[in-house]
Amino acid sequence: MSFPADLTPGPSDFWFLPLGGTGEIGMNLNLYGHHGQWLMVDCGVMFDKEHPQADGNSSVVSADPHFIALRRQRLVGLVITHAHEDHVGAVPYLWRELKCPVYTTPFTAEILRRKLVEFDLLDEVPIIEVETGERHQVGQFEIEWLAITHSLPEPHALVLRAGKSTVFHTADWKLDPDPILGKAFDPQPFKRLADENITAMVCDSTNAVVPGHSVSEGHCFDGLLALVKRCEGRVIVGCFGSNVARLITLARIAERTGRYMALYGRSLRNMVSAARRTGHWPDNLKVADGRHLGYLPRHEVLAVATGSQGEPKAALKRMAMDSYRDLELDQGDTVIFSAKVIPGNEEAVSSLISQLRAREVTVIEAADSEIPIHASGHPCQEELKQLYGWVKPRIAIPVHGTPEHINANASIARELGIGKQLCGVNGDLYRLAPQVSIKRKAVKVGRLTHERN
Ligand SMILES: [Zn+2]
Ligand SMILES: [Zn+2]
Repeated sequence: MSFPADLTPGPSDFWFLPLGGTGEIGMNLNLYGHHGQWLMVDCGVMFDKEHPQADGNSSVVSADPHFIALRRQRLVGLVITHAHEDHVGAVPYLWRELKCPVYTTPFTAEILRRKLVEFDLLDEVPIIEVETGERHQVGQFEIEWLAITHSLPEPHALVLRAGKSTVFHTADWKLDPDPILGKAFDPQPFKRLADENITAMVCDSTNAVVPGHSVSEGHCFDGLLALVKRCEGRVIVGCFGSNVARLITLARIAERTGRYMALYGRSLRNMVSAARRTGHWPDNLKVADGRHLGYLPRHEVLAVATGSQGEPKAALKRMAMDSYRDLELDQGDTVIFSAKVIPGNEEAVSSLISQLRAREVTVIEAADSEIPIHASGHPCQEELKQLYGWVKPRIAIPVHGTPEHINANASIARELGIGKQLCGVNGDLYRLAPQVSIKRKAVKVGRLTHERN
């Protein structure tokens, strides 16, 4: 059966069309089509290190929304699953081409509003805040928000119902029994999906090549606590600004070890302030003013800094170069990398580590540490098996990964007896109903580079 020439879904169609994030990791942009309408799920960016801006920062890249911009009147809404840059970061850059209402939960809405203010778009973008467990009808689509565990506040999976089809869109997830932030993973809502005869499960593939189970944030707390207890001088922890669970962990560890925690880097302070504002930061958990930590005895300092990827302008790099005004490092201080090295950043990170070691600072990297000091937010193979086993979809659609990750995810689904696996890349049109097929290169895809302000 061929597709209509104008690629408009009919009343019995249910289509999935990724424009970004499938066949690559980053800049997610997904479309679902049914009965003349499209729904967008996530609208993210990635950072392009190969083409830095004039100021040395990497530029921001998003998927090209050309296909849907041409059909804007058919776009009924944009749903944002969670507040990571690869899911929400492109909204300020692309919204003028989309001009549709945005549906998301309060923490993600808060992060989005902070971005929109910088682009003078706050009053233009209609943001509809939804709560976990709610169902909303958006055009032809019924959307249900299911809480899942990841590494920041309010990660959500979606159940999308339209016509006779039901799609389970996992977004980013792991199975975390002790996530530090929010409730422990609850399998019940996912087990219930099996009764609904789920048409397709569109699933995170980031760690599909990794055997076993991801480390829990709670386990990471124990590891970091043991490590910080052993340190005598200042402790500086490099971690991702968006990992609010890790920041809560570090604030608690500071309390337990008689240290004061302060945040160095704008993205860290922004995340904590958004978490506070939306009730995700425990009231009793203190954060000190970074300008004061330099005056404290060294054994009372726990600094959390941006720049774990060796970014040239970030706090950690400037500390390593002794050009950071608020805090300097001395022999015997310890820098802990509570983050993985993102592929492509190896050189920048190793140069940062050499600079730190040259100053006789002890460096501890997540990859070399026997105790866990970093936990991924994505599912390893055993977790994928569990979720597929609970949901029992008829079709598995691996996304959020390179072709290698996608194929690994599909093999797991196949081994579990999921009837069909559809492996594709951005621009492929996945027909989920009435028949199942995939049309390769149905839509021309591309990337847009945006100047960061
Ligand atoms: Zn994420
Ligand atoms: Zn992601």
